[in-house]
This record gives sequence, structure tokens and C-alpha cells, in this order.
Amino acid sequence: MSNLTAKPAAAGNTVQDAAGTPLASVPDMMRQAQRAFDTWRRLAVAERLRYLTALRLELLEALDECVDVIARDTGKPKTEAVTAEVLVVAEAIAYLERHAERILKTRKVKTPLTLIGKTSYIAHEPCGVVLVISPWNFPFMLAAVPALSALAAGNSVIIKPSEVTPKVGKWMEAWFQKAGFPVGTVQVAHGAGDLGAKLIEAHPDYIFFTGSTKTGKIIQEAAARQLIPTTLELGGKDPMIIFQDAHLERAAKGAVWGALTNSGQVCVSAERIYVERPAYERFVALLKEQVRLLKQDDSDDADLGSMTFAPQIDIVKDHVHDAVSKGAVVAYGRFPDERKGETGLKLGPLILTDVTHEMKVMREETFGPVICVMPFDGEEEAVRLANDTRYGLSASVWTRDAKKARRIAAVLACGSVVVNDTIVSIASPYLPFGGIKESGIGSYHGEAGLRAFTYPKAILVDRGRKKSEVNWFPYAGKYPLFLDLVRAYYGKRKQWRRFVRAYLRLLKKS
Ligand code: ADP
Repeated sequence: MSNLTAKPAAAGNTVQDAAGTPLASVPDMMRQAQRAFDTWRRLAVAERLRYLTALRLELLEALDECVDVIARDTGKPKTEAVTAEVLVVAEAIAYLERHAERILKTRKVKTPLTLIGKTSYIAHEPCGVVLVISPWNFPFMLAAVPALSALAAGNSVIIKPSEVTPKVGKWMEAWFQKAGFPVGTVQVAHGAGDLGAKLIEAHPDYIFFTGSTKTGKIIQEAAARQLIPTTLELGGKDPMIIFQDAHLERAAKGAVWGALTNSGQVCVSAERIYVERPAYERFVALLKEQVRLLKQDDSDDADLGSMTFAPQIDIVKDHVHDAVSKGAVVAYGRFPDERKGETGLKLGPLILTDVTHEMKVMREETFGPVICVMPFDGEEEAVRLANDTRYGLSASVWTRDAKKARRIAAVLACGSVVVNDTIVSIASPYLPFGGIKESGIGSYHGEAGLRAFTYPKAILVDRGRKKSEVNWFPYAGKYPLFLDLVRAYYGKRKQWRRFVRAYLRLLKKS
């Protein structure tokens, strides 16, 4: 059995909730997936999409139940379970239904004159068995979206959801079963990191990993040993740059949402907020006003839920204590006082001012409900501060000056930039999502993101009617003619007559 005691279960989950897949069954799962791939890959894209349509309808049928399972497993408010998870998955399916056939279609491309008489195509072939390893912060969306894209592209899939949110994993498994996928096409493996490692050892054809940078590096190493290609969606320390000409009320509300949604346990969370100095004080006052209005309880109207994973609270506390010891000021909020019986996973929001880049809270991923705000002077400093990080996932720029926004967006070192809003680019299936630097390798979503689950196969067709080719043996007498051909074709100006003459003489010699 997978080593489930390695990490304490969160959100009330017990070890039994996560129990499931014996390590010894991994080779058999892999064989099933390989067998299923053989049949699944041969289905037309439209036929595969019928299963995705069935999934969409099943999801709608069980909407309340799905939201409920996600909310209970993670501790997030129901509103966030529906907007940030269910809706994004439904939109991803709708996108695939609309566009997958076109994106995956074999395309005819140009053939160079030097290969005259032939025709060229690019086919997008599925990789084989895709292993999707997913985290606990968006356990449904971050498992389902890559899995569905991989399936649409013709792969069979094994999902290894996070052991921290096992009920979502179980729910997904039942969901796929209800949609009636052929046996082995999509399997869910329940367990912890050791099960993930075992699945990698079994040599899937592609690994799609979402999780921490630390684990991402371990996975990349294991994949490299077998030369398995990967996509890695890792951590972030996203900056939010607010200029004095921005709509400040909007920016403050946006910052509060961007930093606190899902209790800050979001890879694209607004973890560093930079405000142009003349607007700084007013902005901090607006932040406090907005944070004060938040509702944190267990009702359907809650704005803030609880943390999902108890050990994450220790990281948040460590970052905040480190910041305070180096001069940061807690401008709002406090940690729960355990002596007063304030225990559990709920963490109220904190606002930290007087932060610097020497503090963990501005350098490492905090992944908690902490708003860190810092002033800056001018565009150049804003960009320098924003890029002063080992991460490069997303960023946001807030200004009424569209040209300035474009200028800044161009020089921010990250995978996506949102202007006058935050986080939401991940909700668009039309835009690529992925990071650079320690935020990951590769991206998904959008056309390139669907093709990421395939490899391009070059197909070059000759009708086979000529006896020989100019570049084939024998070479006798051809060398000067090829020199002539290269000079005629690639020089300053094209010399067509010279080119044709050389070519015809080459033909004669072939
Ligand atoms: P988080 O969920 O906090 O981002 P991780 O990055 O550690 O945490 O975990 C993300 C996913 O990776 C989880 O499903 C976890 O079980 C899995 N995992 C952890 N360690 C390994 C490993 N060595 N090999 C494969 N999968 C792993």
C-alpha cells in the first residue's frame, strides 16, 4: 500500500479516505493503459469527443455533489469550488468539443523547391500513456483539464491525484466510469508520492505534473533517467504592479481577491504587491477596508474558507515570523491563538507592510492568506522588483495607460500577464498556461497546449513514379552542378535560369 502516513491528511480526511491503489498493481495498470491506448488512438477525434460530452453532461447532472466534495475536501468556499474548478473544467470540455478536431488534424505544409514533386504533411500523434500527477489546491481542475486534453489527443491516461484531497480523486474516478470510457483508457491511482514515483518507474510515455517546484525537480530527474518527456506546472511568486493612475478601488479589491482566493493556496496568487509610491498609503487603507468586509465561515456565502493542508500553515507562519523579525509590520490580522482554543485549519487574512526582498515572504512561495505590499518609484523599479525572483509564472499590471501596460507586460519574465485583473488567464482555454524559470517547463491550454499531448510526425510523400532522385547515387559529375544550384538559389538575388539549368543537368545524371 502507498505510504499515506508520509503526509498528514487534511480537511478532516483520514488515511482510509486516501487508501486505494497497492503499489504492486502499478505494472498491471500500465499494461491496461497501453492496451487501451492501442484502441483509443484509432478512434476519430469526433468519436473520442463523444465521451467528453458525456463527461460534461454527467458533471452538470452531479453539479451540487461535485461542488460539495471539492469544498469539503479542500475547505474552500463553495463559490470558489464552482467558479475556479467546475466552471473551468466545463469550459475546457466545451473548448475541446469545439476545436480539438481542427487542432489535431493532419496539416499539409509547404514543400521546398529543392524537394520538388513531393508533398509534406504534419500529423499530431498521441504520445501513448500520459501520467497526470496533480496537487491538492485545485484537485479537480488541475487533474481534469490535462487529463481531458490528453484523452482528446488520443492518449490513455493514468491520474495520480493528491493524497491530501482523496475524495476528489475518488469522485473523479466514478465520474469517468459513468461516462463509459473503454476499459483502461482512463484510470485513477490513489495514493501518495511513493505511488507517483512507482508510476514513473513503470515508464509512462509522458508525464504531466502540477505541484511544488521541489517535487517537480525530483520528477524531472526520475523522468530524465528514462528520457520521458514532461510538462511541469510548478510554483509561483507572482507580482502585482499597481501604478498611481490605476482605478485604485478596483486594484485594492483585485489585490484582496488575488491574494486571498483559495486562502492564497494558488500558484498564480498575488503574492507580492507593488504600489507606486504616491498611491501607496491610500492603497493600503483601501486594502484594510476591503479585508475587513470578508466573511469567513462555513456558510454558502463565505468569502474565505480554510487552509487545505495543515503543514502549509507552518510554512505561512514561518514566512510571517521571518518577515516580522526583519522589520515587516502586520498592518492587519493576527494568527489564531491556540491558547484561546483557536485551532483548526482556518487562517484569517494578514496584511504585511514594510516588507523587503530579504524576507522569505517576498522570495519563497507562501501559499497562504497573506497580502504583502511594498511601494516602488517608477516603471523601471517596478519591473526590476517584479523580475527579482526565481519564479516566473504570472503577473498583473494595473494602470489606465494601455501603452504602459503593454510595455511592462513585454519585459516581465513570466508565462502570463493579466492587465487590470489577476489570475483569470488560467480560466481561458484559448490562452497558453505555463511558467518559466523555476515555475516550470512547457504549457497547456490553447492550441499548442492540446498539441503538447502529441508529438509531431513529419510525413513526406513522393508519388514514386520517377526512377531516381538527383541527390541519390551516382554522384559522378554532380558536385559542380550542386555548387551552381546553391549559388543560384541562396545568393543575394535568385537566379532562376541558372537554377533550372543546374537542376535539369542533375536530373539527366540521375
Ligand atoms: P503540493 O501538492 O503541495 O504541491 P507536491 O508537489 O509534493 O505537493 O505534490 C504534488 C503531487 O505530486 C501529489 O499528487 C503528490 O502525491 C505527488 N508526488 C509527491 N512526491 C512525488 C514523487 N517523488 N514522485 C511522484 N509523485 C510525487
